[in-house]
Order: sequence, then C-alpha cells, then structure tokens
Amino acid sequence: MTEAARRPLIIGSGIAGLYVALRCHELGLRPTIVTKARLEESNTRYAQGGIAAAIGPDDSPRQHLEDTVKAGDELVDRAAARVLTSEAPARIADLVRYGVPFDTIEGRIALGREAAHSRFRTLHAGGDATGLSIEEALKHRVVDAGIEARERTVLRALGPGSRDGPVAVLSDADGKAVEFLTAGPVVLATGGAGSLYRQSSNPSIATGEGVAIAFRAGALLTDMEFVQFHPTAFYREGAPRFLITEALRGEGAVLRNDAGDRFMSTVHRDADLAPRDIVARAIDRQIVTSGHPCVYLDATALPRDLLFARFPSICHFLASYGLDPSRDQIPVVPVAHYMIGGVTTDLEGRSAIPGLYAAGEVASTGVHGANRLAGNSLLEGLVFGERVARQVLHPGPGGPKPPARIEEVPLSATGGRGEEAADLEEVRSTLWDEVGIVRSAEGLASAVDRFERLARGTAATRAEALPGPIANAALTALLIARAALVRTESRGAHFRRDWPQRRAIWRIHVGLRAKASAARGRPANR
Ligand SMILES: Cc1cc2nc3c(=O)[nH]c(=O)nc-3n(C[C@H](O)[C@H](O)[C@H](O)COP(=O)(O)OP(=O)(O)OC[C@H]3O[C@@H](n4cnc5c(N)ncnc54)[C@H](O)[C@@H]3O)c2cc1C
Repeated sequence: MTEAARRPLIIGSGIAGLYVALRCHELGLRPTIVTKARLEESNTRYAQGGIAAAIGPDDSPRQHLEDTVKAGDELVDRAAARVLTSEAPARIADLVRYGVPFDTIEGRIALGREAAHSRFRTLHAGGDATGLSIEEALKHRVVDAGIEARERTVLRALGPGSRDGPVAVLSDADGKAVEFLTAGPVVLATGGAGSLYRQSSNPSIATGEGVAIAFRAGALLTDMEFVQFHPTAFYREGAPRFLITEALRGEGAVLRNDAGDRFMSTVHRDADLAPRDIVARAIDRQIVTSGHPCVYLDATALPRDLLFARFPSICHFLASYGLDPSRDQIPVVPVAHYMIGGVTTDLEGRSAIPGLYAAGEVASTGVHGANRLAGNSLLEGLVFGERVARQVLHPGPGGPKPPARIEEVPLSATGGRGEEAADLEEVRSTLWDEVGIVRSAEGLASAVDRFERLARGTAATRAEALPGPIANAALTALLIARAALVRTESRGAHFRRDWPQRRAIWRIHVGLRAKASAARGRPANR
C-alpha cells in the first residue's frame, strides 16, 4: 500500500464523515477530515427522531428489512437493505462504545416508533436531540484520537488521479488559497441538498455540492428525482422551518386542518402515521384547497410531562414563539428534507471512479428505494461508512452496477462561478415551485431550462475559475429536475400531476452521467 493510499481524505463531518474517520483511524490508517464549516455543523446535528435498528425483543433485522422494502415502493435494492438492517445492531454497539448516551428505560435502551415501522425500533438520545448527541460524541472521539480535521476548508473539485484515487482540489471557505492534494482515497460524506429548496428543514450547509463535484469528475448518479419532503416543519412567517419530528405523531399527536378536522384518516389506513410522502401530499392538498397557509399538529391529548421529557428541543423552540404543545396546536407545513439519490455506490461504498467512495446522504446505495423510512439515514451513514473504511484499508476491484436507464447530461452548461445571491434564490424558488411535492412535465421542463441558463450564464462570465457554490447549486438542481422529468410516473417521494399512477415500466432506477468528453477534463485552473 502506498503512503498516499494510507491517508484517506474524508470530506464532511456529519455522522458518515466522523464515523469513517474514526474507523479508518482504528484500522491503522491516517485519515484527514475536511469540512466546509465548523466540525460539528451538519444535517446530522439537527436529527431529532432517532436512528433505527432492530434491537427490541419482538423485532428482527428481517422485519426491519421488510418495512424498509415496503416503504421504498418497489425500488429498494434488497441486497443493500439487507446489509443495512442486518449490520445495524453492530453499528449501534459502536455508537455506544463511542459514548453516545442513548435514552434508557430501566437500564435498557428506550425505543420509539415512527411512521411505516411495524415495531418500536427508533433509538433516541436527549429526547429529541439524537443527532446532536451523536455528533458531539463522535466529534469528541475524533478530537481525542488526534485525527487531523481541517475546518472551513472546502472540496472544490476532483481531478484525474492514480489507482489510489482522484486528486482533490481544496480551497478555504472564501474560495481562496486553492491547493491540489496528491491522488489518494477520497471519501465523500458531504450530505444532502435540502437547503437548495426554498422551504427546507436542512441547515444552509446542505447544498448538494458533493453530488455536483462527483458528477463533473465522471461519477455516476442514481435516483436524483427522489427528494423526500417531511410533512411537518414549524410554520410562521419569517420563522425558521424547524422540524417537528414524526416521533411526536408516533406518540399520538394528530394532524388537523384549519377547520379542526382530522384529515389523514380519510387518506390512508395508517392515518397520521402513513408514509411521509402521503402525509406531505395530503397536507399540501389541504393548504392548496383551503388557501390557509398551514395545517396543525395537535399534541394536546398527550401528557405535558411526556412532551417535555421526550421532546425537549421542540418544546423549547415552541416556547420561544409563545406556544406550549400541551395546550396549543402547532402550525406545520411540509418541507424538503432528504436527498434519496446521489453518487451511485456498490455495497462497499465504491463509486464509479477508482478510489472515490461515498457514504451517508450523498451516496445512493439503493437502500431507500423511492422513499426513505424514518431513522434509516443516520443508520446508512454508519453501516456503509464501516464498509468504506474496510475497503479503503483493503481496496478491491469493483464498483456499482449501472442502472437500467442512464441519461447523459452535457457538461457545457455547468462550469464557472456565479456568486450573485439572486441566483441562489432563483435556484431555491424554482426547485420548490417546479420540482417540489407535486410536479408536472411543463414545470419540470421550465425548471431544466432555467437551471441550464443559470449555469451557462455563470460559466460564460467566469470560465477560468473553479465552479463555485452557485454553479454547483445550479448543477445539482438541474440534475434533480432532469431525473424528475425523465420519470413519467408517480412513485414514492416523486409525484407527477400528469402521471399520477405508478407504472410497471418504471420499476427501474434512472442514472445520470456527464457526457464523457467534457467530464474527464482536468479542473479548470490546473
Ligand atoms: C432537521 C432534520 C432532522 C432529521 N432527523 C433524522 C432522524 O431523526 N433520523 C434519521 O435517520 N435521519 C434524520 N435526518 C436526516 C439525517 O440527519 C441526515 O441524512 C444525515 O445526518 C446525513 O449525514 P451525513 O454524514 O451524510 O451528512 P451531514 O450530516 O449533512 O454532513 C455533511 C458534511 O459535509 C460537509 N460538506 C458539504 N459539502 C462540503 C464540501 N464541498 N467541502 C467540505 N465539506 C463539505 C458539511 O459541512 C457537513 O459537515 C434529519 C435531517 C434533518 C435536517
């Protein structure tokens, strides 16, 4: 093994990045973490409901697998989901070993229940501060282990490298001080793209840059059309769209429209605990037909003690708006929440580029199919993170199987750097309005045009520069819209007004790849 191969570069410091770094370190490698903000800033930090694993006495990995497959609307890769669910208990044991303080009842780990899970299998910590507890525990382990972590450092591009991996191009957070690292293993753990939508539960770091960078470098992407919308984020004009976890409905809270009626029981047999896409669309319909800007989550039947013990962060947040969930109904709207697709990987986390791995939300392992089950995303970062760490130690030949359909997207429209804030706002509004909860051919086609124009405009003015955040945002948005336009059906999180039914011919995955000639070029300023 070369010295470069022993020094994996891990991009991102959420659950996937921190865990891969820790495991690489334990396996005798010398990882470096690169992260664009502070070490702890990530989607992971804000996760509330918890992490799923079949550790309850009445549960089994097999049952967890079946629930995952069912939620994914015929598109779950069964082999990947089997890995996810069968390795979950061992990865939970790792988190306990790393000091994650899961909540307990009478000395045993407490388990909650979330939508579309047939068992109580959601582990939580600090009530609804699960992500924060995990992030802090892993961060402290990373610091204690002396793993090098470069904060406010951004992956800007990946260039052709060696057998060990690609060349990584980094800069500081202001886009200056560009450096090229020796080719070696690169692990993308850059998370999702939720904040590219105008209404989102994600922090501003979640811009899908990893997807755009990998795509430009020639990686294959899959399932980009599947963006999960969470049904319940806090609604108030000017307030952040703070997530109100599904676990609250798991405890018995119910949705009501502005007339006070429970509407979910007429929509789905699981009523308020129906799959997320169904609840999100039902709320959207209520909002559109009533003209009222939100619906309400009613937790007033739950004991106040339980609410404050199990959901302290939510109660604290609501208190800052003068609301008490044991007394007041909570105004909620659906928001963009989770990127199901991403960089196509095999079961070992290998992408289509030698030495480039992906883990966590940026990866498309196939475990979620068309719709993610709650609690499976934190888990995915761990399970496939472990496999990535082992693969980095003992790299073997292989890579992802290409999906049944691959769309080639020309790269000419996607270089350059456009820093104007207005452009980002246009991306966010267009994604929300045209590539949101309910889509149509007309809206998607106009979104594709707009994203191409945005990316082309920035390319023309700054052709010499490395792609910047806006160009990457426009590219990621373009890829979501392109994939959504191609899939002429409705399935899981992807709903087309003009194709409202599931269609057997679409029981396949859609891949996206950059047109070969442009994709393999060196980063523009080498
Ligand atoms: C409000 C909220 C609640 C959630 N609740 C749950 C839950 O209860 N259970 C569950 O399973 N999932 C939940 N999720 C989803 C889950 O939190 C995420 O899918 C998961 O944390 C993703 O982990 P990750 O490590 O892949 O990415 P992240 O945690 O998002 O980390 C990505 C990292 O990459 C860095 N980065 C990005 N681009 C670059 C770049 N170009 N250069 C350098 N660094 C970069 C970021 O700064 C960040 O450190 C929730 C998400 C949100 C937003």
